[in-house]
Amino acid sequence: MSDIKFYKEKHLPLEMHKVRIVQKLNLLPIEKRLENISKAGNNTFLLRNKDVYLDMLTDSGTNAMSDRQLGAMMIADDSYAGSETFYRMEKAVQNFFGKEYFLPAHQGRACEHILAKSLVKEGDVVPMNYHFTTTKTHINLQGGRVEELYKDKAIELVSDEPFKGDMDLVKLENLINEVGAEHIPFVRIEMGTNLIGGQPVSLQNVEDVSSICKKYNIPLMIDASLITDNLYFNKVREERCKDMSIHEIALAISKCADIIYFSARKLGSAKGGGIVVDSKEYFDNMKELIPVYEGFLTYGGMSTREMEAVAIGLEEACDIDMISHGPEFIEEFGRILQEYNIPIVTPTGGLGLHINAREFVGHVKETEFQSAALASAIYIVSGARGMERGTLSEEKNPDGSEHIASCELVRLALPRRVFTLSQIRYIADRLAWLYDNRHLIGGLRFTEEPKVMRFFIGRLEPTSDWQEKLVAKFKEDFGDSL
Ligand SMILES: *Cc1c(COP(=O)(O)O)cnc(C)c1O
Repeated sequence: MSDIKFYKEKHLPLEMHKVRIVQKLNLLPIEKRLENISKAGNNTFLLRNKDVYLDMLTDSGTNAMSDRQLGAMMIADDSYAGSETFYRMEKAVQNFFGKEYFLPAHQGRACEHILAKSLVKEGDVVPMNYHFTTTKTHINLQGGRVEELYKDKAIELVSDEPFKGDMDLVKLENLINEVGAEHIPFVRIEMGTNLIGGQPVSLQNVEDVSSICKKYNIPLMIDASLITDNLYFNKVREERCKDMSIHEIALAISKCADIIYFSARKLGSAKGGGIVVDSKEYFDNMKELIPVYEGFLTYGGMSTREMEAVAIGLEEACDIDMISHGPEFIEEFGRILQEYNIPIVTPTGGLGLHINAREFVGHVKETEFQSAALASAIYIVSGARGMERGTLSEEKNPDGSEHIASCELVRLALPRRVFTLSQIRYIADRLAWLYDNRHLIGGLRFTEEPKVMRFFIGRLEPTSDWQEKLVAKFKEDFGDSL
């Protein structure tokens, strides 16, 4: 908790929970790690989890559940239609967002599918603070296009801007005037903006965007998947939120939106998702799609056990002690890395720590996937797997050339309440070694390149024998140590 004072400790993110179930981890020798990453085509998505020491790939569906969530799973009412479990989850969703209508879906991208299908037409333009991979793909598949209206400060990697996720209001009005409100099915704000480093959006900005939307009669959609981290930052960084409870802030944000959707793999710390609206018209338009793509209206592809866990997870999302672990551990992680002069995105955000790969491995060619190369090197030297968030995650230009990403990052996700401070110190120490030996890191090239979202299952190989050299140097410095 952020406001506890200490006697000798300068920085201590203090857990307001205790760990009562543990899972054994493996830390394999470095030769094995090299073998595994080669077999995985240098794509951390393709590693087997048993070969990973710290799974920092994502915070999606990997957060630790609470004792109350696990307990609730035991009372799930399993029924195809009309289960009590559904009504408990519906009530929790209605209560959290203060909106009446809830449509269940099996995860966040499933909500995006339903929303894009029912709202986006060929030629439409969807303004947003920043895109998310699956969101953009669903909009593109409907023939629409995404316009990102972030402030220039959003992509300045080193900054003290507290709300880098804010949308640029001038750019928004200009875009509306340029393309015409009739071609804009909705404006989307992503809370805890994922791809620029889990950066928050201020309550003020949500209200300002909402006013503009109302002026032009355009619906405002909020992606609330990462809202818990965002709420934490509203509380600690936004003056007007200091005396509000987490739930009051959530309701104030929600009030501005016509449509909200979320991944319960993040918000709710279980597995599932849903769409929330206060207009019956939206509800009626979308409800027919749920049984076609997700499952009947009272489960939407989720297991009833997970739905029970989400219901409790939403209650716990209003408790600052339950949501502070992620952002506070990430801040501490970032502080240690900065001591080692490692280039990271600041201020640190939610969901994970972001390393600036463009600076870390600036000597690697931009077309040889700096972030992916660094992610591969991190696994080799530490057994931790992060995720490439850079050029490899972009779609290529229409002419077949690489679309060089505006930010070239490696994300080390911190699933909420999962890792300890010693594990953070371990990975930071390995990163310090890697940074001092960064000249050994080389580039990657594709051996198998899928056409859509290539970062998920594409395979790559090193452009030279740099990985063998990295392993040799590691052994020289650390001997037989893992
Ligand atoms: C993870 C995420 C999604 C997709 O959710 P899934 O449950 O993983 O499909 C959508 N939007 C944001 C902002 C996310 O972080």
